[in-house]
Amino acid sequence: MVPLLQKMDHPLPVNKVQVGLMDDPGINAANAGGGEFYVTTGLLQQANDDQLRAVLAHEVAHADLGHVAKQQTRGTVATIGAIILDAVVPGSGYVTPLAGQIVLNKYSREAEYQADAHGVEILRRAGFDGRQMMADTLTWLQQTAGPGSGGWFATHPATDDRIQRVQNMP
Ligand SMILES: [Zn+2]
Repeated sequence: MVPLLQKMDHPLPVNKVQVGLMDDPGINAANAGGGEFYVTTGLLQQANDDQLRAVLAHEVAHADLGHVAKQQTRGTVATIGAIILDAVVPGSGYVTPLAGQIVLNKYSREAEYQADAHGVEILRRAGFDGRQMMADTLTWLQQTAGPGSGGWFATHPATDDRIQRVQNMP
C-alpha cells in the first residue's frame, strides 16, 4: 500500500495513514478521509495480491481526489496489530492500525469513474499495468461481490460501464 501512497498527486505521509480491518465477510474497502482506510476480512481472504492492490489504488484515488461522502453507514472495526496487518496489506507495517467505528462512503457514479481512472494512473506510477489490473479486478468484483451482497457495490455504484471505461483508457 505504501508505494501507492507515495504516487498520489498529494502523497499522504505514511505516519498519517491509518488502516482499519472490518470483521465482515463481504468484499469491500473504504476511504474515510483524513488518511483513514478500511478493508474487510472478506476482501483480504478472497483477493489475490493484484486484486487487493487495485482495490487499494481505487480507494487511495478517492482520497487523492478529495471525494466527499454522499451517504453514510456504520460498521464495526476490529483492532488489529501492525504485524498482522502487514501480512495482509503488504507494506502497511508502517501504517497505524485503527480501531473503532467505520463510516462507509457512497460515491456518485461520476466519482467512481474518476477513482478508477486515477487508480489506474497511481498503479502505473508505481510500476504496474494499471489498466489491466483495474479491469481484471472490477471484473472479479462483479463476479464475486455481485450487486445485492451489500459489499463493494453498496458503496461503489455501477460496474459494467466502469470496466468498459477502464478498458478504453489510453
Ligand atoms: Zn469507489
